[in-house]
Amino acid sequence: MTVMVPPTASATTISTGAVPAAGSAGRQALDTALFQLGQAAEHLGLDDGLHRMLATPRRSLTVSVPVRREDGRMDVVQGYRVQHNVSRGPAKGGIRFHPDTDLSEVTALAMWMTWKCALVGIPYGGAKGGVGVDPATLTTRELERVTRRYVNEILPLIGPDQDIPAPDVGTDEQTMAWIMDTYSVNAGYSVPGVVTGKPTILGGSLGRAGATARGVQIATMAALGDRDPAGVTVAVQGFGKVGAPAARYLADAGCRVVAVSDATGAIIDRAGLDVAAVRAHVAEAGGVAGYPRADALSHADLLGLDVGVLVPAALEGVLTAETAQKVRARLVVEGANGPTTPAADDVLADAGVTVVPDILANAGGVIVSYLEWVQNMQAYTWSAGEVEVKLRDLMEQAYAEVGALAAAEGLTLRRAAHAIGVSRVAEAHRLRGLYP
Ligand code: NAD
Repeated sequence: MTVMVPPTASATTISTGAVPAAGSAGRQALDTALFQLGQAAEHLGLDDGLHRMLATPRRSLTVSVPVRREDGRMDVVQGYRVQHNVSRGPAKGGIRFHPDTDLSEVTALAMWMTWKCALVGIPYGGAKGGVGVDPATLTTRELERVTRRYVNEILPLIGPDQDIPAPDVGTDEQTMAWIMDTYSVNAGYSVPGVVTGKPTILGGSLGRAGATARGVQIATMAALGDRDPAGVTVAVQGFGKVGAPAARYLADAGCRVVAVSDATGAIIDRAGLDVAAVRAHVAEAGGVAGYPRADALSHADLLGLDVGVLVPAALEGVLTAETAQKVRARLVVEGANGPTTPAADDVLADAGVTVVPDILANAGGVIVSYLEWVQNMQAYTWSAGEVEVKLRDLMEQAYAEVGALAAAEGLTLRRAAHAIGVSRVAEAHRLRGLYP
């Protein structure tokens, strides 16, 4: 039984905005998320009403963001904030600045956040935000104006007890600092707990910047089990806030990172890349392309490399039925959200490839975001070591639970992870009951 419902049919929807074109990347991401929920609902025997409720975001807000350009012109871009579910606590999820971002994509990402927070046992619901803008085309001052105006428009939804944003594609610590300032100026006092992923001087947590990547490393080591990492080769797609530190942490663990890519290109060195040198090149040149101590590679070829581990850490929908057929890695660890379509999942499962799913593999980010929020709410600071121990404990516990269910019931890790996440949210609804 699979109930497919419109993504914005919630009675509490504030505004839905334009309906994205069928077949847009965002619509495909939402179809993937709804399909995964459908599988979990069927596995758990959820009734149709609850399934429909979980398939529907609690609140979706679309806003227009007018921005004054440096030459005096005014542009208008679209922004979104979706709270998918808040049955287990305040909504939590990143803010993405990307030209292709639309309401469907943000809804899918918010839904994945709900299951992720439930899976790793942190008391949050799921949310996501986005602005349809390419930050690379804006000056720093324009970017600040877009950020502050977008935050002003979504102000009624966010707050430390309501909904706590964080960085995602195209946003960073500076973006979070502007968000914290805009919210705090409106409140009349400093509210560090309104965002996570802030600079540490404003209440950011030690260990947050590399947390998603650290979680990817922990998940990869758990999936490798007894295998000696020294013999394991790795390719990483996407060399941003997740992919670059993930490459470093996997190299630190003993793996040989042979290829990485970003929007500018892909590079390979079979002897192993010097990840620190590649990061230094990116800081100077703006991307991995042109790195002198490696050969160039096509984006498509990186996905099909004969490596032990493939880490997609860029955007959704990169592993499709077609591209998945070329994957030769035995292990795919999803640093990105939604990189694998359901059809690709089938191809990979048939080929015996293990996929550590996004809601497990990249949960390190939201775990340390939660730790940052707890520190902010207590006006207290933990050491990097304390944060690291808590992150590792939660990641390893979640991995063990997913692995045990997958083994017991013959499920893929993705299906097991969704079954656990969805069941916890469904149980929260059952216990709270339906108001009125
Ligand atoms: P980012 O903007 O810092 O980096 C994205 C990277 O992907 C950049 O290097 C970009 O050049 C690259 N990229 C874009 N298109 C590409 C393509 N076609 N081929 C190869 N590379 C391409 O974003 P991020 O924060 O690293 O997020 C990456 C993914 O991880 C997203 O799916 C995001 O939702 C997910 N994620 C991020 C966090 C976090 O804490 N930042 C947490 C969990 C999940």
